[in-house]
Amino acid sequence: MHILVLPGDGIGPEITAATVKVLQAVSDRFSLGLKLAEDVVGHESLRRYGTTVRPDLLDQARAADGIILGPAATFDFKDEAKGEINPSKFFRKSLDLFANIRPSRTYEGFPGRIGRFDLVVVRENTEGFYADRNMELGNGEILVTPDVAVSLRRITRQCCERIARAGFELAMRRRRHVTLVHKANVLKIGDGMFLDECRKVAAEFPDVTIDDVLVDAMMAHVVRNPQRFDVIVTTNMFGDILSDLTAELSGSLGLGGSLNAGVGYAMAQASHGSAPDIAGKNIANPFSLILSASLLLAWQGRREGKPEFEAAASAIEAAVEAAIAAHEVTSDIGGRLGTREAATALANRLGGSSRANRHQHA
Ligand code: NAD
Repeated sequence: MHILVLPGDGIGPEITAATVKVLQAVSDRFSLGLKLAEDVVGHESLRRYGTTVRPDLLDQARAADGIILGPAATFDFKDEAKGEINPSKFFRKSLDLFANIRPSRTYEGFPGRIGRFDLVVVRENTEGFYADRNMELGNGEILVTPDVAVSLRRITRQCCERIARAGFELAMRRRRHVTLVHKANVLKIGDGMFLDECRKVAAEFPDVTIDDVLVDAMMAHVVRNPQRFDVIVTTNMFGDILSDLTAELSGSLGLGGSLNAGVGYAMAQASHGSAPDIAGKNIANPFSLILSASLLLAWQGRREGKPEFEAAASAIEAAVEAAIAAHEVTSDIGGRLGTREAATALANRLGGSSRANRHQHA
C-alpha cells in the first residue's frame, strides 16, 4: 500500500512522525508492505514553493492508495490568489471525499466525563456551508457592501443520498441505529431535502432503526445520554462542530480520529486543527492521527479484500486501548508521556522492527 504523507502545520509534524512510527510497526508485524512517501503542505510549502498545496500533489495522491494529512493552519490562509489554499479542502474537493467518518468512544482506564459510549459522526464533506468548496467556480461567500456579507449553503439531493448511504452501510456493521441531525425547523428547504433523501435510503435498510434530532437539542442529548447514539448522519458544518464535542467527551480532542472517504480514494486526517498553542512542545496527543491512519488501513482492507489490513487496524485500536489503560499516554488524557514517548510505547506494544519503506520527496 502506497501512502502519501503530508505533515502540515503546528502539531502536524509531531503527530505525523508519531503516526509513521506506529505504521512502520504494524507494517512489519502484519506484512503490509507499506510504502510511505512524505511531502509538504501548509506554511512549509508556502515558504518553499509559494503555495500551500502544489498542484502535482494531486497526481501523487491519485497514484497512491491513501493519504495521511496532518492539520493545517487554515485560519492563516486568506487568499487563494496568493497560493494560500486550504489543503484539506483541496483534497476533499479534488478527490470528491464526500464522507467524513469520525468515530468517538470511551476507553477502559479513561472512562470520560459522562460514562461509556461508542458512536460515529458521519459528516457530509463536500458542500453545505463550506464556502471554499461548495461552488464550481468562485466562492460561496460574498461581500455585498463593506458592511454586508452573504454566506451561501449548498445542499444537493445527490450529496444527501450518498452520505446517508455511507451512514446506513456503516450502521449495518455496527449496532444498526442511525440518528439524523438537522435543523429542518428553520432550514426547511435544505434540511428538508436532507431528511427526505436520508429517509429514502433508510427504506432500503429495514434492519436499521432511525430517529432524528434537531442540531441544537443534539448538543444537550449527546452530553446527557451519548449511549443512545450509534451512527449520526449530518450535514457538513453540523458534523464538524458535533464531532469536536464527541471527541472531547470521549476524553480529548486528541482522540478524534477521522477518515475522509470517496469512491476510490481516502484520506486519514485528525478531527482537530493545528493546535498552535501546544505546537513544538512534544505534548500533543498523537492518537487522533494514529486512529485516523488505522481507519485508512481498515478502509484499504475492505476495499481490497485484504484481512491483514483490517487486522492491523484492529491491533492499533486495541493497542491504543491498552496504552490508555496503562496510562502510557499524553497529559490531555491523564498521562505523563510526551508525543514521541507515547508513540514509541504504542509502537513497542504493536511489535515489529520498523521496516516500512519511507522516502522523502520534497
Ligand atoms: P484546534 O483543533 O487546533 O485546537 C483546539 C484545542 O484543542 C486547543 O487547545 C489545542 O491545543 C487542543 N488540541 C487539538 N489537538 C490536540 C491534540 N492532538 N492533543 C492535545 N490537544 C489538542 O483548533 P484551533 O486552535 O481553533 O485552530 C488552530 C488552527 O487549525 C486554525 O488555523 C484552524 O483554522 C486550523 N484547523 C485546521 C483543521 C484541519 O486542518 N483539518 C481543522 C480545524 C482547524
